[in-house]
Amino acid sequence: MTSLITSFTDTLLHLFFPCICVGCGRELPQGHPGLCSGCTIALDETGFSGVPGNLAEKKFWGRLALFSATAGYYFRSGGLVQDLMHRLKYRSDRDLGVQLGRMLGWELEKCDRFRADLLVPLPLFPEREHKRGYNQATLLCEGMAEVLGIPLASRALSRTTHTLTQTSMNRTERWINMEGHFRVEEPGRLQGKHILLVDDVVTTGATLEACGQEILRLPDTKLSIATLCYAGRL
Ligand SMILES: [Zn+2]
Repeated sequence: MTSLITSFTDTLLHLFFPCICVGCGRELPQGHPGLCSGCTIALDETGFSGVPGNLAEKKFWGRLALFSATAGYYFRSGGLVQDLMHRLKYRSDRDLGVQLGRMLGWELEKCDRFRADLLVPLPLFPEREHKRGYNQATLLCEGMAEVLGIPLASRALSRTTHTLTQTSMNRTERWINMEGHFRVEEPGRLQGKHILLVDDVVTTGATLEACGQEILRLPDTKLSIATLCYAGRL
């Protein structure tokens, strides 16, 4: 009887709140949220997660001692991923962020290299987050946390700007000035854990590297990285 009521409730919910493809807006079958088959193909999955030494990991070789790294989809100019990223960052589509996080979570769930203790989003500059109203990496983490059952520490790190004038700086100092400084705000919570640092895209990996270095200063801490997209040389 209970299952009959549950099924009836699900049908009613579907009638009023149908699952919509996050890519094209078409209605999806009940219980199959995410993307329709056409959009799934258009998304161009990397398949990196189960592959040690994948292209996302290679970006950090010699720079950051990672346990594992992955990126879910290839980012191509004019592709669906670019469109989704634009909606996520500039059109306040928060549900899309959580849904994309779930999809990344389903991918990571397949292998044990990403069984971390804590999900940590790469922080935005406070002014940027305030203006946007959210951090897109935190939305991704929310979806991933749902699927993977890993707790989320959304304020474990912070990012600060320097207000120094750039003219007296060398190239590295200028870069640090633009990308900001990362700080671990909750060292006790992160120390000794396997941290999965999450961001929307990996391009050069420089920002994730700067952030990851701060995490790895904590004793006995293991670091992995997962991004939604992979951009750059293939
Ligand atoms: Zn679709």
